[in-house]
Amino acid sequence: MKPNEIDLHKELKKYFGFNQFKGLQEQVVNSIIHGNNTFVIMPTGGGKSLCYQLPALVLDGTAIVVSPLIALMKNQVDAIRSLGSELGVAHVLNSSLTKTEINQVKKDILDGVTKMLYVAPESLTKEEYIQFLRDVKISFVAIDEAHCISEWGHDFRPEYRNLRGIIKQLADDIPIIGLTATATPKVQEDILKNLDMSGANVFKASFNRPNLFYEIRPKTKNVEGDIIRFIKQHKGKSGVIYCLSRKKVEDIAQLLQVNGISAVPYHAGLDAKTRAKHQDMFLMEDVDVVVATIAFGMGIDKPDVRYVIHHDIPKSLESYYQETGRAGRDGGEGHCLAYYSYKDIEKLEKFMAGKPVAEQEIGYALLQEVVAYAETSMSRRKYLLHYFGEEFDDENGEGADMDDNVRNPKKKVEAQNEVVLLLKMIRDTKELFKSKEIVFALLGKVNAIIKSQKVDANPLFGKGENHDERFWMALIRQVLVEGLIKKDIESYGVIKVTPKGHGFIEKPYSFMMSEDHEYSENEDENVVTAAKSSGVADEALLKMLIDLRKNVAKKEGVPPYVV
Ligand code: ADP
Ligand code: MG
Repeated sequence: MKPNEIDLHKELKKYFGFNQFKGLQEQVVNSIIHGNNTFVIMPTGGGKSLCYQLPALVLDGTAIVVSPLIALMKNQVDAIRSLGSELGVAHVLNSSLTKTEINQVKKDILDGVTKMLYVAPESLTKEEYIQFLRDVKISFVAIDEAHCISEWGHDFRPEYRNLRGIIKQLADDIPIIGLTATATPKVQEDILKNLDMSGANVFKASFNRPNLFYEIRPKTKNVEGDIIRFIKQHKGKSGVIYCLSRKKVEDIAQLLQVNGISAVPYHAGLDAKTRAKHQDMFLMEDVDVVVATIAFGMGIDKPDVRYVIHHDIPKSLESYYQETGRAGRDGGEGHCLAYYSYKDIEKLEKFMAGKPVAEQEIGYALLQEVVAYAETSMSRRKYLLHYFGEEFDDENGEGADMDDNVRNPKKKVEAQNEVVLLLKMIRDTKELFKSKEIVFALLGKVNAIIKSQKVDANPLFGKGENHDERFWMALIRQVLVEGLIKKDIESYGVIKVTPKGHGFIEKPYSFMMSEDHEYSENEDENVVTAAKSSGVADEALLKMLIDLRKNVAKKEGVPPYVV
């Protein structure tokens, strides 16, 4: 059939039984059936599979679908077969197939029965398969989980890097479809470059989850008690608690159990049977809480998870987004609570110590974004979405008041002059530096880079020393999110002034900023900080608040810790 003759709604109903496309699906499908290179960025659960499955079913020839996990491929193939088409409509090509099975696959493809051929990237490098596929009419190549191409994604797979070369060997101008749920501009740029699809039609869905409430609390010694209290306030509701280590998962699960909370552990150290059992118990609501490492998540689709707690802060904002994203799938309440202490960041840095330098640098940069997100006092939703390259209106946007910072705003101060100074400093030092060097220059501090680049000779050097490092870091983040400066994509972290920023230098306007949170592990200090930020300055009043809080804690009773 010619693309223009295809009735997409009819085909959608016929193959999938759906009456309507979801989000951008129809535009994406149209782009693909017209033979265009297409790049799809949609959050998990957005319906990416259908974007290539429907075109594959209606176009002549066989679509090749590259996917990183055999389990994922098998699930998809089963799902397509269950749509009622012929068994051969979709196949998986991998090294575990017998000779007879491979011959059947080849026969189905050559007979024109097979519309989708799923392959793992490493299989596609096999000369034998390449030879065979050269004789096949290929409708397009879809690359699912395309972020695996980028070292800046959360699942880097070196084999993904070779895909472009292999596709070129199969035939000239086969359309390529990339799909991912990783939205950072850096990863997107990597994908477009690596797949050599700069002219592609790009479809990006919003990553805003208006029903999720984002909250960060300081991680004090009583974090376990705090978690127990939180869960008891959400009695009978489903929740997930993420911890960094298996040991912590076991400890917390036990602690919850002795406190009368139905909870099970989940991590890769448990045998497959136990894991499956615990997952089922959670899905069937035999237990309220799963305490888990990141091993828990792939394919978890419980719609009514009411909270996700991060006992330990994750190593990137992508992970944070994915993991918090498991709350409130049904559109109902989803409370995302993370405990943060800078000590945990240092622990994560230590984990990276043994890795290759390039990987360490990326890991470190991603961690800095987590620190910025945790410590910021601006709208968390705005910060998170900006990180994903999305503008968010923090006054009228959907879900604008759904985070702790917006509900309890810090006092703001006028920083117009400081913004001008900051922007001029960046501009006049030739836009060569990352935030650390810029802050050093403002404070009049020197390091090796400052010396070698003669930044200390700049007339603005040291002109910002009436504020401290925290102030300037906070201001940089807020100016970044306002779009007056941007981080360079090529050399990540290097800061440049945007046209809007140049406009600000010419014609400054009011810029209200609030300083970042300073979290302490000492609970009393957190009460002080919170009180100060809400404008309580009276020392006596502060002392009263601290005592009050201690009394409340005593009355609630210390939970029977087992750790
Ligand atoms: P992604 O790969 O983006 O995470 P999936 O392709 O796995 O998402 O789809 C998520 C869910 O959405 C699946 O259960 C799928 O059946 C459903 N879905 C996809 N498209 C539609 C549609 N047009 N109408 C209703 N449900 C849909
Ligand atoms: Mg998918």
